[in-house]
Amino acid sequence: MPEFVDFFSDTKTRPTTAMRAVMASAEVGDERAGEDPSVNRLVARCAELLGKPAALYLPSGTMCNEIALAVHCRPGDEVICDRTSHLIGFEGGGPAALAGVMLTPLAGDRGRFDAAQLGAVLRPDRPYAPRQRLVEVEQTANLGGGTIWPLMQLQAVAAAARAHGLVTHMDGARLLNAVVASGVAAADYARDFDSVWIDFSKGLGTPGGAVLAGSADFIHEATRLKLRWGGAMRQSGIIAAACDYALDHHVERLADDHANAAALARGIAAIDGLAIDLAGVETNLVYFDVLRDGLDAPQLCAALLARGVRMGEMGARTVRAVTHLDVDSAAVEKALAALRAEMAV
Ligand SMILES: *Cc1c(COP(=O)(O)O)cnc(C)c1O
Repeated sequence: MPEFVDFFSDTKTRPTTAMRAVMASAEVGDERAGEDPSVNRLVARCAELLGKPAALYLPSGTMCNEIALAVHCRPGDEVICDRTSHLIGFEGGGPAALAGVMLTPLAGDRGRFDAAQLGAVLRPDRPYAPRQRLVEVEQTANLGGGTIWPLMQLQAVAAAARAHGLVTHMDGARLLNAVVASGVAAADYARDFDSVWIDFSKGLGTPGGAVLAGSADFIHEATRLKLRWGGAMRQSGIIAAACDYALDHHVERLADDHANAAALARGIAAIDGLAIDLAGVETNLVYFDVLRDGLDAPQLCAALLARGVRMGEMGARTVRAVTHLDVDSAAVEKALAALRAEMAV
């Protein structure tokens, strides 16, 4: 059994030996000047994958979200998103600080709202109200449990937004998890959205990198903000080569992560004192609750850590475990053994 297994996040992946070899021999140039061939190849490939005319390489997914909001919106505008969205909880207040927008949270079903919920907050334009401008969705929904938005639900939400004159943005940090789990193409999920991005540093296993895609005009303005905010790099083809490698070698294997997550979830369901919604485990994120008196999620996570298993506390009762490139079925067995031992104490 491995000595330490890390289910804290799919950002914990380290570049594989093969990925490091590709990085070491990457063709590079000055990215800021548009001269890095590896970056240029990657963005062309991602534009095609996402079905958009243009794309932009950025250091992180957070920067993709923040730039997209700032390009689409003016200060004072209203952005509508799920109450669990990454925009609200994990970007340091960026939507307010950088784009100057207001966020209206919707109470979706595990991170996914529907066209009717959106319709209920849409209103006619009135001078005393903020200008409603953008609808944001997360595919998959992280705090929703790695849940997948069904294609028709996305289409209905985008249609409702468009009918009201709003633009749409998709946070696709784990879009490719949804693609692998559902068989729906990334470009189909993204088709009705004005902007979309994918992250390479999550399940795809690179040390960084994200690509934002949209219309040529959108990417033109996004590039200005990338430069203004210091997101342009130099020989970043070293990372772009890893991203390219990940598209070749680490996409289909996301199915292994989903199978490992399902196995972990089934094991958790059989442990007294833990509660899990098995049907809610659709991809690589496993959320479960601790129901025992005198034991909360932080205590359980600390006890697991002492047994060589790291998971993340997501509140007083809730624990999150994430499967990824660096945890295999032996790691799942180790995690389950630690959970069984701890819950038997
Ligand atoms: C991780 C994540 C982000 C941010 O991506 P970084 O590359 O970590 O900046 C945005 N949205 C969701 C849903 C995420 O899980």
